[in-house]
Amino acid sequence: MRYSQNFIPTLKESPADAETPSHQYMIRAGLIRQLAAGIYSVLPLGLRVLRKIEIIIREEMNRIGGLEVFLPSIQPAELWKESGRWNIYGKELLRIRDRHDREFCYGPTHEEVITDMVRREVKSYRQLPLTFYQIQTKFRDEVRPRFGIMRGREFMMKDAYSFHADEASTRKTYEDMAQAYTRIFQRCGLEFKMVEADSGSIGGNFSHEFMVLADSGEDEIGFCDQCNYASNVELAQARPPAPDGPRPPSGKLTEVETPNQKSVEEVSRFLSVSPQQIIKTILFESDRGLVAGLARGDRQINPVKLKNLIGCDWLHPANEKTFEAHPDLPCGFVGPVGLPFKIFADEEVPLISNAVAGANKVDRHLTGVDPARDIKIERVADLRRVVEGDPCPKCGPGKMKVKRGIELGHIFILGTKYSAAMKSHFLDEKGQEHPMVMGCYGIGVGRTAAAAIEQHHDEKGICWPRPLAPFEVQIIPVKMEDEATRTAAENTYLTLTGMGVEVLLDDRNERVGVKFKDADLLGTPLQIIIGPKNLESGQVELKYRKSGKNETHPFPQVLAEIPKFLNNL
Ligand code: ATP
Ligand code: MG
Repeated sequence: MRYSQNFIPTLKESPADAETPSHQYMIRAGLIRQLAAGIYSVLPLGLRVLRKIEIIIREEMNRIGGLEVFLPSIQPAELWKESGRWNIYGKELLRIRDRHDREFCYGPTHEEVITDMVRREVKSYRQLPLTFYQIQTKFRDEVRPRFGIMRGREFMMKDAYSFHADEASTRKTYEDMAQAYTRIFQRCGLEFKMVEADSGSIGGNFSHEFMVLADSGEDEIGFCDQCNYASNVELAQARPPAPDGPRPPSGKLTEVETPNQKSVEEVSRFLSVSPQQIIKTILFESDRGLVAGLARGDRQINPVKLKNLIGCDWLHPANEKTFEAHPDLPCGFVGPVGLPFKIFADEEVPLISNAVAGANKVDRHLTGVDPARDIKIERVADLRRVVEGDPCPKCGPGKMKVKRGIELGHIFILGTKYSAAMKSHFLDEKGQEHPMVMGCYGIGVGRTAAAAIEQHHDEKGICWPRPLAPFEVQIIPVKMEDEATRTAAENTYLTLTGMGVEVLLDDRNERVGVKFKDADLLGTPLQIIIGPKNLESGQVELKYRKSGKNETHPFPQVLAEIPKFLNNL
């Protein structure tokens, strides 16, 4: 492709709202343009990248027996009412009406639509298992669309759904998917981790996310510095603490004055006790009413763990409204002794003796609290958020690290949640009817491109991993007005293109400085710089974008070796 015939609107400056390198460079290199908040047009160079990711995804999905379909993006509300999600999905779901006033939504995901398709066609265990996938546009009215196409409102997703007669078959496909995802992200040239993720009420090890480590990531991953344990911090396990010796007995429960001392730090300072000595009481609103979570003062409660322990549908920390509705609960002084709600304690809490806790009275705390003696605990469990340096729950000697990550993919065993609600049933060998067991599996296509830039860039621009680069080689003629240079560039272009290499020939009548800057910004892995001086001695210059390495090679002999050089990247 000739630069002069392409459409590559590069920019010198980043737009003011672009906070992350990938967002900045996707705009500056002319890959995408914003149409509205979270809604982007993909320009020719950007589409070349997305198509490459799609090809890799397709190959790997086909390899494990996935069947490609293309489902409608507009979905009837009836299906969502059947699954029960019409009312719980909230504002992320873009609801629309047609001219007959019928309700629809723009699909944020496709469980309902695919389950409807399958229930109409599949009746017998003999037709199972089946895995379908599609690469298609989704719309989610995200609260905070940001970072360009990393978190858009309209975005491309590969979503896959599998249908099975039993658990074992579901697990087999889940394993196949995990391997396919691993190959996909490896082939994209990404460094990633497969981490355990929240599978909600299903429990077990049936949900994994594929994460790229990056400071701009919105997720946090906990992983061991020694073994392969890795988990979303939302559910990373903490190792049960070993009590160091018998617990000293607690003293008498005593109410003390703590005027205006609300936070753990304030109380710790005021009463001269360590935060480890304090019991933190956090109230949560949930669909089961108000519940309390207890943790040691230096710890945070992990709401996802608490939600899964209780088995509720939703749960969030109590807010001002809660306290307004409960004048008996003095914010900052709430404590577990005599609290009239179900209390769930992290396993470190029962090990504290002589604890300090809120007294449920304004400006008062209790000292000498003995958890076993004084608190009516419903259940003790691992409820705390893992922090860096915690012992690894799996291997023992390892220490946990906590880093930010970008979720590129998510695989999930759904069980019979949708098939039962929507009556997607099959008959087994004995003629008995059962709901199908399902799995679902997603990859963000645009987000993968953005994450690749997060991982591969420098201060000059993108450094594409070769498999995703819009072009593999960029030819830069130093002086377009020089006949020999022009001819050599043209021949190089024709030769390499004929060899199947994807080449961008910068045939613009621009200063060479501009061409170099643009080439670095676009991130083409290999640049061939052709100029009169080198040509006189029968040479051209090769520059590797990522390493910055420069070499001169005999011309035109070097052209035959370009595929080899690219393979070695
Ligand atoms: P997140 O927690 O980041 O919102 P999610 O858990 O909602 O993601 P899934 O429903 O599992 O995501 O969707 C599958 C994949 O689609 C994600 O792993 C991600 O790569 C991609 N994805 C999800 N939301 C967006 C978005 N708003 N913009 C771009 N890609 C997205
Ligand atoms: Mg989301």
